[in-house]
Amino acid sequence: MKPVSRWSRVKQGLLGWVYPPVCAGCDTPLDSKRQLARPFLCADCEATLPRIGEHYCQVCGEGFAGPSLLSFRCANCSDHELAFDYAVSCYRGAGVGSLLIHRLKYGKQRHLARLLGTLLDEVWRDRRLREGGPWWVVPVPLHSRRRRARGFNQSHELAHELVARAPEGVSLELHPLLRRIRQGVNQARLDRRERLVNLTGAYALSRRRLRSIPDEMGILLIDDVITTGATASECASVLRRELGVRRIAAVSVLRG
Ligand SMILES: [Zn+2]
Ligand SMILES: [Zn+2]
Repeated sequence: MKPVSRWSRVKQGLLGWVYPPVCAGCDTPLDSKRQLARPFLCADCEATLPRIGEHYCQVCGEGFAGPSLLSFRCANCSDHELAFDYAVSCYRGAGVGSLLIHRLKYGKQRHLARLLGTLLDEVWRDRRLREGGPWWVVPVPLHSRRRRARGFNQSHELAHELVARAPEGVSLELHPLLRRIRQGVNQARLDRRERLVNLTGAYALSRRRLRSIPDEMGILLIDDVITTGATASECASVLRRELGVRRIAAVSVLRG
């Protein structure tokens, strides 16, 4: 993890003035040391976050108990194709995690992106991500209407944090290459098959008309939550089709 710069201390001070540093999970006041290491989250609430840890599917990132197998592929994703190579998520969507995401998105507590950014450090435990760079980081886009209503795209905020906190030796650049062109209905109420249909044609390259990306470049798709992987897969298929991207991984804070 990067050392804390003087600028982030200054920023911390300013943010502390705008948002009194209390835990976003339980409102407990946080001291400045805690706030600097893990902004807006107390140790007790952090302990409720179920870390996915070492044992997870090497394709979809679903966590499992038990011994780690090198090329373990879960039953869930053996029966359908995902357009990304693999996904890595940090925590299961239980404990305080879902509340944090909910507050960020629907409570418009944009400052929580910094906290979620520190939680995202977990993805670097995966060697494929650490050693598979260089990467362009591509946020899963929101439809412009939804982005305007919310004021920001949470995945874009997380992408910023991921790039700013890149570990030593990992090359990351933020490139919002995608846009959402069709809204569809809320994915949360749909099963996997319905999600795939709902998402078909939902994403396209952004209007900047990028024609190619450097050959050696991999894409790191980033979303706040990965559930079935359908969204990231649809984004990945646009990038493969339109830009011929060869290496695509997906990362998220939570696994739904
Ligand atoms: Zn707390
Ligand atoms: Zn899987």
